[in-house]
Formats: sequence, C-alpha cells, structure tokens
Amino acid sequence: SAASPATDPALNILKTVWGYDAFRGVQAEIVRTVAEGGNALVLMPTGGGKSLCYQVPSLLRPGVGIIVSPLIALMKDQVDTLRALGVRAAYLNSTLSPEGAREVEAALVAGELDLLYVAPERLLLPRTLDLLERAPVALFAVDEAHCVSQWGHDFRPEYQGLSVLPARFAHIPRLALTATADDRTRADILRVLDLHGAPQFISSFDRPNIQYRVAAKEGPKTQLLDFIRTEHAGDAGIVYCLSRKSVEETAQWLQAQGVDAVAYHAGLSPRERNHAQERFLNEEGLVVVATVAFGMGIDKPNVRFVAHLDLPKSMEGYYQETGRAGRDGLPGTAWMVYGLADVVNVRRMLAASDAPEEVKRVEAGKLDALLTFCETASCRREVLLAYFGETFHGPCGNCDTCLNPPQVRDMTREAQMALSAAIRTGNRFGAAHLTDVLLGRATEKVVGMGHHTLPTFGVGTAHDEKTWRGVLRQLVSLGYLAAGEYHGLSATGKARTLLKGETRLTLREDTLQPRTTKRERQR
Ligand code: ADP
Ligand code: ZN
Repeated sequence: SAASPATDPALNILKTVWGYDAFRGVQAEIVRTVAEGGNALVLMPTGGGKSLCYQVPSLLRPGVGIIVSPLIALMKDQVDTLRALGVRAAYLNSTLSPEGAREVEAALVAGELDLLYVAPERLLLPRTLDLLERAPVALFAVDEAHCVSQWGHDFRPEYQGLSVLPARFAHIPRLALTATADDRTRADILRVLDLHGAPQFISSFDRPNIQYRVAAKEGPKTQLLDFIRTEHAGDAGIVYCLSRKSVEETAQWLQAQGVDAVAYHAGLSPRERNHAQERFLNEEGLVVVATVAFGMGIDKPNVRFVAHLDLPKSMEGYYQETGRAGRDGLPGTAWMVYGLADVVNVRRMLAASDAPEEVKRVEAGKLDALLTFCETASCRREVLLAYFGETFHGPCGNCDTCLNPPQVRDMTREAQMALSAAIRTGNRFGAAHLTDVLLGRATEKVVGMGHHTLPTFGVGTAHDEKTWRGVLRQLVSLGYLAAGEYHGLSATGKARTLLKGETRLTLREDTLQPRTTKRERQR
C-alpha cells in the first residue's frame, strides 16, 4: 500500500510541520536510513532539499539533531524559520552573548531542543564536546561537508577536527551533506568523518529548467540590458560582477535605463546589504547586481535569470551561482558574456594568489574546465554534467549550442598565424597589438617596434578584428597562449604541436546568439 502520513511517521512530520505532501527524489530514503540510525553521505545540488534530510530524522529520533555549519550568518534566520514552524531550534556560535549561550547549553542538556545549529569551532571546544556527551543526541549532520577538503574553494581547517565525531560519538548517526564534491573531496569527507561503507546518496545535478547560454563579450552592459529587456523585463534576477566597482557602475547604469536594480557587495554597510536582500526577497521584479558575496543561503524560488558579466572562478562557482535561477522549477536563464580580457584576468589572479602550488594547480584545472565549457560547440549541459561526473547525452534542447548550433571551422592555419605573431614579437604583447600586426595595421607602436617588417605583418587580412579576438581568446582559454605580465601573451609548450601541424584545431566562429523571445522559449 502507498505510504501515507497516517502510516508513515516521516511523511506525517513532513506534512504536519512543513505542510509538504511528499519527499523529493532520494530524500525519503535518506530520512529512513538516518532515522534508523545509519550514517550517510548526501551529494545534492543547491536547492535540492538537503535540509529536510537531517531535519526530519532529528524530529523522528529521540534527542536533539546537531547541525554543524560554517554559515554563522545564516543560523539565526534558519532557527527563526524553524521556530515559526513550531520546531524547538537554537544555535550556538560567536554571535551569542555568554548568557544567551548558557541558556542554549542548558536547554541542550535538559533535552529541550529538537535541532541545534553549531559552528564547527564552537563544537570543537572541550566544553561543548563534554556537554554533548551528557546530552541526548539524535544525530550529527555536517553541512557544507566539502569544507573538510583543501581541494575545494571553501577549505576550513576546523572541519578536519570533526574527526572527533566518529572517535567520540561512534554510536550516533553521522550525515555529511554537500553540493560540491569531486572525487578527491569526497574521499576527504569519507576519511575525516569515517563514513567508509556508509551509503552515498548522489542526486543528479541536472537542472532541466535552466537554459545555459554563453556569448562573446562585446558591449557587456548593452548586451545585458538587451537580454533583460527582450527576455526578462520585470523579472527578478541576479547579475554577478567581479569587482565592487563594476557592481556599482552596472547597477547605476541599469537604473538609469529604467531597470529596477540595486547593488550588493561586501563593501556596503550591513544595513544596506540587509536592505537590498530584504527587497530582493520581498519584491517581484528586482535585479540585484552583486559580487559572489550575494546568494549564499538565499532561498528565493522565482529568480528568473542569473547573468555573469565576469567569469566565475570555477565550474563549481558557476554551477552554484546559476543554480539560484528557477528554484521553483519554472524556466530560468543562466546567461554569461566573457572575453579575452576576462580569461587573462582570472588566470593572472590565480597565478598571483599565495595559495600552495598544488592548490593553485588544482584551481587552474578548475578554471580550465570552466573555459572549456565556455568554448564548447557541443551541448553545454553535457559538458557541465560531465564535470560533476554525470553522463548526459545531448542535445538537451535547452542551451545555446543546442538551440543555435555554432559554426565550427578548422582554424589551424589562423591559430598558427596568431601563435607566430606572438612568438615573432617576443611573446610579450597583448591581444590588441597582435591583432594590429595580423591585420597589417602600421600603428605607431607597431612601427616603433619594427613589427611592420615581420613576415607575419598583415597575414590575417582575410578576417576581421572580431574574428582575431575570438581566435586569440580561444587560444588562451585552451592553453596554447599564456597570459603574462601586462596582459602579454606568450606561446606555451602546448603550442608547438599546433605550429608543426601535428594537431589541428577546430574553433567556433563567434556569432552572437540570436535573441530568443519569451514566447519562443516557452514553446
Ligand atoms: P539545499 O540545502 O539543498 O540547497 P534546501 O534544503 O534549502 O536545499 O531546499 C530548497 C527548497 O526546496 C526549500 O525552499 C525547501 O523548502 C524546498 N523543499 C525541499 N524539499 C521539499 C519537499 N519534499 N517538498 C516541497 N519543498 C521542498
Ligand atoms: Zn544542450
């Protein structure tokens, strides 16, 4: 017989506390596993519904569910929401007064709590661990579990201390949850929390209602405005920029064009940030222009588009940021423009960071994966999901390359010309100068350097400036050219095979994606 709230205690709690009729996907199985006292690893995309996986078993089992989370700023909101549902929830972190903390600790030991959110550094205090040994604990849920790993971008040293859980609380179920875990990160989670042999619940990362689109950056602000006006007028959306300055400028410019937009970045006062966040949550069609500081923990179901005016740092970042669109299941657009300067910029930012060499190499790899995604001429969903270890066979019918297959051409000869322009000018000039040389423009700089006498001078007149920009961008993205100081481009070791004609290169011809109107998209 089908499970019903009358026969299934988990469904009963889901219905009476949250008002939901059914679990989503693997939620039911996870809840059952943990409620029965088992451990589990949960890999679920953002918005997939991880919270219920530990909240429901916490209510089903005797004792309090302890949730370890690094997101201190979100704890109060989460707890307030739960309390409004009638759940006895509390949190322990550094924002509490000593008296406030003592009250929570007393409630914990007295068994008067259903759920307790704890910051990892707080949990690891000898005092807290002693309290936990005396308290009735239903389970430990480690949220954002990828923070244990140095491979991720959110490494938190305290998370490694969580090995205390299997060591001291071996008999209490442990649940690790994350939205980002490649194989290395997953191995770290299993090791630190000793989850070897525990079932792993891995949900698909596919978000079929999100349309992925990437275009060459030409006039980013105008392109953005055009996109908003033709496809998302009056819709709520997020526009991501890299710097506070570009956030401010873009927000002001959109406002001047009549788009209801507000800026959000870490340089604003907490009051201004709260105000922007509140407006975004409560208003229908506000566009937030933000740095990546915006979005963590924001659960607005009807965000209709996420636009990137600058490249994210990795595929994980891109997936997480674009994942904020269409949480309600209705169509959403993930739109991005990027150009050569962006590729050069992020590559240099990575190179300049003072992270350990090995971490830098991993990060460079993640960026490469993102650039491959950007340059691909095949289904974007296929490339995206492959990165997260999922096999998906395109065409998906809901990404730009599926909707408007790009022209690809054997551009080996053009690539050779561009590489030889870089080499013959000494591997130190930027894209603008190389383009001048290729197009045979005797600018002051070209003549001053004597580059008008090179055999490469003017070999590229069969193409226009835009094409050469595209070729150079793809060569940098694909690692044939490296960006050095002052944006100078130099041929890499990889370029040799291409120059010798041992490998050939198929590049996409940059055509700006023709616009699709709202009506066309809905068909
Ligand atoms: P995650 O932590 O994986 O990012 P959340 O736990 O915040 O996701 O859930 C995302 C949204 O989906 C929330 O608004 C949540 O209430 C909703 N949700 C999750 N599970 C269900 C369900 N079984 N039925 C209805 N809504 C759900
Ligand atoms: Zn596709």
